Amino acid sequence: MRSVVTIKLKIPQKKEILETMERYSEVVSFIADKGFKSGIVNRYELHNLFYHKTREKFCIPSQFVINANRVASQTLKSVKTNKSGKPVFKKCLPLPFDKRTFTFSFDKVRLTTVKGRIDVPIEIPEYYWKYLDWSPQTAQVIKSGRGLFIHITFSRNIDIPCSNGKTIGIDVGINHIAVTSERKFFNGNKVKNHRLKFKRLRTKLQAKGTQSSKRLLRKISGQEKRFKSWVNHNISKQIVNTCEAGDTIIMENLKGIRRNKGRKFNFWLHGWNFYQLQTFINYKAVRKGIRTVKVNPYLTSQACSKCGKLGTRSKGFFVCSHCGYSLNSDLNASYNLAKRDSMPDHVSAAVNQPHIPDDDSKAHPVNCG
Ligand SMILES: [Zn+2]
Repeated sequence: MRSVVTIKLKIPQKKEILETMERYSEVVSFIADKGFKSGIVNRYELHNLFYHKTREKFCIPSQFVINANRVASQTLKSVKTNKSGKPVFKKCLPLPFDKRTFTFSFDKVRLTTVKGRIDVPIEIPEYYWKYLDWSPQTAQVIKSGRGLFIHITFSRNIDIPCSNGKTIGIDVGINHIAVTSERKFFNGNKVKNHRLKFKRLRTKLQAKGTQSSKRLLRKISGQEKRFKSWVNHNISKQIVNTCEAGDTIIMENLKGIRRNKGRKFNFWLHGWNFYQLQTFINYKAVRKGIRTVKVNPYLTSQACSKCGKLGTRSKGFFVCSHCGYSLNSDLNASYNLAKRDSMPDHVSAAVNQPHIPDDDSKAHPVNCG
């Protein structure tokens, strides 16, 4: 299994880098403009038509043109789908680097720029040292109000031992952000309040419509995004901390989940990044040698985790129509997940004995923050 990590470092604002960023942004803008006028959005068509013209006009290394072409094509596609007008780009777009355009060593990175290769000193904080024997893959230079940053991704192959430990299921849901089959509840209440606060502020600012309110709106949306990802980091950390190497974590494949959980969940699915939560769980687990499996969530919410027959859900509770078993509905779903096989579309084919304690009365809600 491959594990990937991104480290973020501040770098000096060298004029060669800034110049390259600006030139690169001009290239993206140029290709997008050409594509927009001619109605071409396909990356390869754009490349064939404009690659040589762009290189001549902008004198920029080919790798940047290829990347600019990709970004332009993506933007044009979304413009086409959303039927919005001609795309406008920032003056300094994030500048991507790969193995051909950057090399990494402990105290510096060597970056290709429009002025040739330059060495940029870096200082790696101690908490990143553990990744230094991983292999550097790509990098991105980003300009923000706080300066210039380089984000470098490192990857490593990790051997996951044969599954010989416990298996837990994790259900993501409306009433709780996540519930594990070990009866850990990650509460969404505090998060809900935060979201409502953000929503009220957003509505107010949108109604105003002034320049400064728009600026504030952008700032708030960034804050909201960071808040959500902080919560997701927090929950995933707590979940992974309950497992050891050799254990298995079973999660639902979020594709097709819409039909399964209903309209109320869809609202939350759009508002909450469950996919990000699963991604965080996955990468934290992989690093610890824990296997993660995504399964088809078909009937995990509707079936009884004791007898497998269908039941009903009301106000966060599941009641089995057959055996009368009743419990928190998210917990019931997590029990069902813990029993699932890794094969999609197979219902209740157990791989391992799921780790489900007998006494449900010991369930303790865990507040995520
Ligand atoms: Zn039952």
